[in-house]
Amino acid sequence: MDLLDTLTAKGLRGETPTREEALAVLATTDDELLDVVAAAGRVRRRWFGRRVKLNYLVNLKSGLCPEDCSYCSQRLGSKAEILKYTWLKPGEAAEAAKAGVSGGAKRVCLVASGRGPTDRDIDRVTDTVAAIKDADPAVEVCACLGLLSDNQAERLKAAGVDAYNHNLNTSEGTYGDIATTHTYADRVDTVQKAHGAGLSACSGLIAGMGESDDDLVDVVFALRELGSDSVPVNFLIPFEGTPLAKEWNLTPQRCLRILAMVRFVNPDTEVRIAGGREVHLRTMQPLGLHLANSIFLGDYLTSEGQAGQADLDMIRDAGFEVEGMGEGTLPRHRADVVAGATGAAGATHAAGGCGTAPAAGGCGTGGGCGPCGGHAHGAADDGTETAGATDEARTDLVRVRRRGAGTELAPNA
Ligand code: SF4
Repeated sequence: MDLLDTLTAKGLRGETPTREEALAVLATTDDELLDVVAAAGRVRRRWFGRRVKLNYLVNLKSGLCPEDCSYCSQRLGSKAEILKYTWLKPGEAAEAAKAGVSGGAKRVCLVASGRGPTDRDIDRVTDTVAAIKDADPAVEVCACLGLLSDNQAERLKAAGVDAYNHNLNTSEGTYGDIATTHTYADRVDTVQKAHGAGLSACSGLIAGMGESDDDLVDVVFALRELGSDSVPVNFLIPFEGTPLAKEWNLTPQRCLRILAMVRFVNPDTEVRIAGGREVHLRTMQPLGLHLANSIFLGDYLTSEGQAGQADLDMIRDAGFEVEGMGEGTLPRHRADVVAGATGAAGATHAAGGCGTAPAAGGCGTGGGCGPCGGHAHGAADDGTETAGATDEARTDLVRVRRRGAGTELAPNA
């Protein structure tokens, strides 16, 4: 396919496709899918080798949010029967983090529900980061606390936080359809504040909310322009008790096309499969590893993932390897940009640019402060259904988290 040859050549050079080319990836047929995966897989291996970065979520504060993000089980008015608890103590959060690190995670993502942190909340996170880094200074810490006020990013940076996650979630044009208590511009502002303070920016999207292909391409190009170092791709988990509970719009094939498009637009950026991996990719998860270079280990914020050991087994069986603490994530030219922005000594990078070497290192969430669209899912703009465009509701695969942080049960890692 000329399209794939063109996209592969551009990706191997670190160049982004045109908007039309990105849309064409989403319009490919199921017959073309393996060719699409193979082409984007070459780009992935060029910049990230066969390494898979593992990230571990610690939900510091769950539920009870005053915001109305329609995809979120923690939103105002949510009837989802999730765990609800207020701030974990630093020692409790550090214990949870330790489980993830022991399981192979090199980044811990500290997430709290809410519009944004108070200055007292920044103090709490500061103490938590100290407890985590006292135990293992090499662990990367990403904070995801909502909208930031002036000077809060600087305080997090001074506390030792490495990255800040705040997802754009969907296109600017459709943002008002998914949340009304804050705006797309508010989200952009927080990503820019984080970046400006020298934190590595982690910002991604949520697919499956009913958005169009144009919306997806819009948000992915916006993320590229924003300079996100890490792009979490969430697939909507339609929680019962939330406004999007009936939005079962994704198939494994659609998810793979989306991941391929994100990879082509962000050839040398960390692309992470975030929430909804098990629910929507299902048995096709290993193919996703050919596109993304990063996943979450174990459970998500309010839902359970597959067993951490199953994540590790999948990585090994698919011929990939877990990225070690001492290895870089981003290729050198991107890591240098991050290091320049963060002032980090020894920023995480992969030696040589094509694959495998030293490193450092952005929170998508899968139902929390990160991940979530607009119209015509699964239908081409001319109104014709694309192959495999609609999915059956797999509510049997949605499991509310009942273990780990905020419970008496051991975490899944
Ligand atoms: S995504 Fe974050 S801000 Fe929005 S409702 Fe959920 S917890 Fe609150």
